Amino acid sequence: MTDFDVVIIGAGPSGSVAAAYLNKNNFSTLVLEKLTMPRFVIGESLLPRCLDDLEESGLLHVVEKQKFQIKTGATFHKGDDKLAFDFSERWLEGKHKYAWQVKRAEFDKVLIDEAEKQGVEVRYECTVTTVDTSSTEQKITYIDKEGNTQIVSAKFIIDASGYGRVLPNLFDLNLPSDLVTRGSIFTHVKDINRTTEAAENIFVHAFNNNSSWLWAIPFNDGETSIGVVGENAFIEELAKDNGASFMKFMSEFKDLKGRFTGVTPLFDPKSILGYSVGIKKMHGTGFVLAGNTTEFLDPIFSSGVTLATATGLIAAKLTEKQLNGINVDWQKEYDDVVMQGVEVFRSYVNGWYDGTLQSIIFAPTIKPEFKLQVCSVLAGYVWDDTNPFIKKHKTILKTLSKVIELNG
Ligand code: FAD
Repeated sequence: MTDFDVVIIGAGPSGSVAAAYLNKNNFSTLVLEKLTMPRFVIGESLLPRCLDDLEESGLLHVVEKQKFQIKTGATFHKGDDKLAFDFSERWLEGKHKYAWQVKRAEFDKVLIDEAEKQGVEVRYECTVTTVDTSSTEQKITYIDKEGNTQIVSAKFIIDASGYGRVLPNLFDLNLPSDLVTRGSIFTHVKDINRTTEAAENIFVHAFNNNSSWLWAIPFNDGETSIGVVGENAFIEELAKDNGASFMKFMSEFKDLKGRFTGVTPLFDPKSILGYSVGIKKMHGTGFVLAGNTTEFLDPIFSSGVTLATATGLIAAKLTEKQLNGINVDWQKEYDDVVMQGVEVFRSYVNGWYDGTLQSIIFAPTIKPEFKLQVCSVLAGYVWDDTNPFIKKHKTILKTLSKVIELNG
């Protein structure tokens, strides 16, 4: 007799969605979380697609009550070029027409608190250190808040430990990413110069010949998340003097027109270098990976939380199936499905940095239909094969940008 049907490592959005879904379907579920909530994590601009997962797992209603900053779209800038996407104007698939900008400390706590309220057991300050897997019973060893070693057993494990990458590290599943090694520096500021236009949505500015970009993500309390993404050496430069160079850069960045002049960081700017990582496989005997423990590409399209909730939900559904005695082909039903979405984002991430996507979105005119189709990708609906910008994602950006170039 195992202690739990399922043990989930990590109480981020991926773990919460998986836990809430399994609990709703009568599986005893334990979440082990290294920290206490609230805790800081970057990744504050959500996509409409993740609301579908929150709804299906029974968590959407509590997020709705928080009155987080509604995000109706995203605006991309490069020099004087600008294109705004409105999530309500997009290709076929998808229920939700907006998302939110959230401080993750608050958002993640709301999700896990609700999962707990619904019946999930959550143990905080419990760091998973080793895992012993078999086809029938998994043994998870963790250090609790008193520093004692504990062992708990489960029929199945979902590793949603995010940047902790517990099982990929234990089972040697990590792969180097095929993307250029980039990093990021960020903080929150009191946004004293915010205009009405800038109050709602994320905007990003490309610079340094497409190799870098910066973001501003407004929250509902007048504070804004600001950050820069670029190759590691550039980020290291900005991180000097506790991020003073980064604040100066934001203050003087021409196209921001002084929006972040005279603002002080609400915490010392934090930097993360080389966050992109690949994965050999996302499942094994007795376990599956979900969220950031799978493959993490790049933050440019704010896809991280959406992929976290999507994979958390798919992982939970397949776990349910397996625990109900139905055979699961994890490679076909999980890894291949997840990679389908990841590969679409990979094409767009590559298209952003090699300039092909930018040449399409910043072309003097963009065909309305193309804009709707790209918008659907940006809203996170990357599994919708009816969208040619998804179905032909490997070639369409290069082909179209060539056409634009030829037409001058
Ligand atoms: P997490 O949210 O990281 O949660 C994992 C949890 O596991 C943590 O609470 C951690 O404490 C716990 N844990 C770790 N190790 C252990 C252990 N050994 N035992 C127990 N618990 C453990 N995404 C977006 O959607 N929008 C954005 O705008 C965005 N911007 C980003 C900007 C940058 C610079 C970067 C690097 C990423 C960004 N992301 C963004 C991605 C986003 O941060 C992640 O994709 C998202 O947090 C993944 O959620 P998760 O649930 O998988 O993991």
